[in-house]
Amino acid sequence: MHVFQVGAGSGGMAVLDLVARDPRITRVTLVEPDVYAAHNVYRHLFPPSAVGRMKAELAAEWVRAIRPDLAFDAVVADITDPARQAEFARMAAECDVGVCAADNEAAKFAFDALMRAAGKPWTLGEVLSGGIGGWVHRFSPGGACYGCVASHLQREVKEAPSGPPPDYSAPAAAQPEARIPASKASIAVIAGLHACATLGEQSLPSPLAGEGGESSSRVRGNGASANELRGAASRSTPPPGGEAPPPSPARGEGKDSQAAESLLFSLQAVPGVFDAPFRAHRFRIPRSPACLTCGAAAAPTLSGEQLDGAVADALARLGAG
Ligand SMILES: [Zn+2]
Repeated sequence: MHVFQVGAGSGGMAVLDLVARDPRITRVTLVEPDVYAAHNVYRHLFPPSAVGRMKAELAAEWVRAIRPDLAFDAVVADITDPARQAEFARMAAECDVGVCAADNEAAKFAFDALMRAAGKPWTLGEVLSGGIGGWVHRFSPGGACYGCVASHLQREVKEAPSGPPPDYSAPAAAQPEARIPASKASIAVIAGLHACATLGEQSLPSPLAGEGGESSSRVRGNGASANELRGAASRSTPPPGGEAPPPSPARGEGKDSQAAESLLFSLQAVPGVFDAPFRAHRFRIPRSPACLTCGAAAAPTLSGEQLDGAVADALARLGAG
């Protein structure tokens, strides 16, 4: 099983360390542009002596030390780099599952586009500001895209995050609030769930697909990240007298394969956001017909041949007129 991962920050490395130890994983392709910085050390796996080296290369060394049998391709690049999209598309086409641990919205949208075009499932992990909890999302081929989830959770695309980027995603990055760093412990919890959801993509039970968890109506919020919590809660509350959404069926079965599966896990009680720590809230976020990326409203993308044909037709009409 071949994993295509973007992001090897403190969260991305935690996920990679867990996923790469699974004997079913035989190959990893990692895309990560950044240099390991001094401020990364306190919640990373690498020592202070590694500061100044590329995170992608450090990740490759880490994994090779644990799994010398595993093929590892470390690519120092930004997943949003327009000049390298053909290369990334090939990586997506070759993988079995994608793992997104990117720290900005632009990278998440870029990875989503690659995975949808390749028709491959992928997972996304996000630690909330301050480490109060986190999200794990799982996307299926042909189902809801990241744009569906982002609009459902009322996120905004932020092309150029202000200030130093966080290590493991920034759902609230569009908000001008002061960022409280998440602890390594809280990152590890969400990374563990993210790894389980990724490995469950093949045959293991997934934390996103099980029974139980707290009612989404317990999720309330105000302020930055709470915006999306409130949005998710209001949209996911079962109708009066109705039942909560059923556990997800196997991949590709029924209309549920159109939904993205999302798990919101609280780590702290935060007034107005989380009633209690250590509660799981599950959501099935439907594919939106109005989605500009994957819905009926999306502009059709023409292949090169189709485009050539359309141009030829237009020229012929001009010539005949
Ligand atoms: Zn969509």
